[in-house]
Amino acid sequence: MTQPSFIELCKKRLGSAHVISDPARMDFYVTDYRKRFAGKALAVVQPGNTQEVADIVRLCRRHGIPIVPQGGNTGLVLGSVPDTSGKAVVISLARMKRIRETDLANNTMTVEAGCLLDDIHKAAQDADRMFPLSLASSGSCMIGGNLAANAGGTAVLRYGTARELCLGLEVVLPDGAIWDGLYKLRKNNTGYDLRDLFIGSEGTLGIITAAVLKLFPRPRTRQTAFVALDTPADALRLLSIAQQFADGVLTTFELMSRYSLELVTRHFPELSSPLPLMQDYYVLMELSSTEPEEHVASRFEKLLQYAMEDAVICDAALAQTLSQSKSMWALRENISAAQSREGKNIKHDIAVPTSLFAEFIETTDRQLQYRFPGCRMVTFGHLGDGSLHYNVGAPEGVADDDFLRMQGEVNRIVYDNVIRLHGAISAEHGLGALKHDRNAAYKSEVEMRMMRLVKQAFDPDNLMNPGKVLP
Ligand code: FAD
Repeated sequence: MTQPSFIELCKKRLGSAHVISDPARMDFYVTDYRKRFAGKALAVVQPGNTQEVADIVRLCRRHGIPIVPQGGNTGLVLGSVPDTSGKAVVISLARMKRIRETDLANNTMTVEAGCLLDDIHKAAQDADRMFPLSLASSGSCMIGGNLAANAGGTAVLRYGTARELCLGLEVVLPDGAIWDGLYKLRKNNTGYDLRDLFIGSEGTLGIITAAVLKLFPRPRTRQTAFVALDTPADALRLLSIAQQFADGVLTTFELMSRYSLELVTRHFPELSSPLPLMQDYYVLMELSSTEPEEHVASRFEKLLQYAMEDAVICDAALAQTLSQSKSMWALRENISAAQSREGKNIKHDIAVPTSLFAEFIETTDRQLQYRFPGCRMVTFGHLGDGSLHYNVGAPEGVADDDFLRMQGEVNRIVYDNVIRLHGAISAEHGLGALKHDRNAAYKSEVEMRMMRLVKQAFDPDNLMNPGKVLP
């Protein structure tokens, strides 16, 4: 009698409807968000609960089949898609979307990995709370993916990254064991912090199936301002003033170069800037609070007035209505889409200590302009938390593809400056299969050795998302 195939065994366990083995139906799962890369998979499987995940992982292990865990597949570093060998199975968490518990007295919510971030926001809001992780991909990304990638976003300055918003995890290990680490504790010093190993591990150590998330009081007031200034150093001065005047309620501090905003207004003519685009840099700031609106507004006015009198900023617009605030946010949120419409560019998602940002931007801009005169900088991001999207476009008249051939040299200039300032070559998108080589080249031997030892301890057969994070 012939043995049932791996796919037949998956179908037997999950039901045929939840096992996709027809390549024509796998496109979404094997193609990366930016459509730069398409891999191949043996199958895409969609377990409906933790036990099913564990059973499929055990089956994969028995057959020596590599596993690629996948959430919303919005990751930007080729972490959530398989390679082109066609040997791996994609385990999609999309069916695991249950909110298991909301504990209002503890301010926590226990959710399954496949919950969309938007749905978690809504569930928190329905409970008169807030879950503050805030990404432009929130309609498609899932909380398991957010935690596996340790996502950041626009509210990190106030609330921290996904790591800081999670108290506990449930994880299926590479041998199929289930770890119930769904602690709802803010203090727990009972040994190594296993939770933190899985957060940010990009699916290379295990599959996150559920998480305990922290909830916060829902702000009653949000005030948004759009500010024009001349230099990154001025932006840092403004950040310091804002922290002085609005400590505890400063939620967002996003830097945008003029060129980034010009791209938005060119490609989305329905969006307009509240200030003329005459200065080199702009900042989107938001204060949010449970305090009454007039208190927050008065703080905001004072801080902007102080910054203006100190000649730190050139101009500022304070949103008077929700619709004005939304228009300001739309400028920031459409920079990525606008740069795609403009063409290709060389992207970096970097972090340096906030205090060194001006030095990073000024030095790196100067070196890039010297080597590639006229290259166009799409510089924007979460300056308040020390991270930045630092993207470099071709000079006018140079074809994008010709410029992209310079990627190695551009990356070297950018990353050498990042490392010189003791920064990180990935702030929030992770390493995936896109930056793992470069990361290994920049990290010390000691650090790489510790990372390899962790991987070896959890996944000795290297079946869990192989070829990601570690080269
Ligand atoms: P996926 O893309 O499916 O997976 C990401 C990684 O996690 C992969 O390595 C995958 O194998 C692993 N993984 C997924 N689910 C699990 C699981 N359950 N268990 C173990 N491993 C798993 N990121 C930011 O940090 N900040 C931003 O501001 C931001 N903005 C974005 C805006 C846009 C328009 C887009 C498209 C992306 C943006 N991203 C941002 C990147 C991306 O959305 C985030 O990394 C997000 O957290 C990924 O979630 P996902 O569910 O799509 O995960």
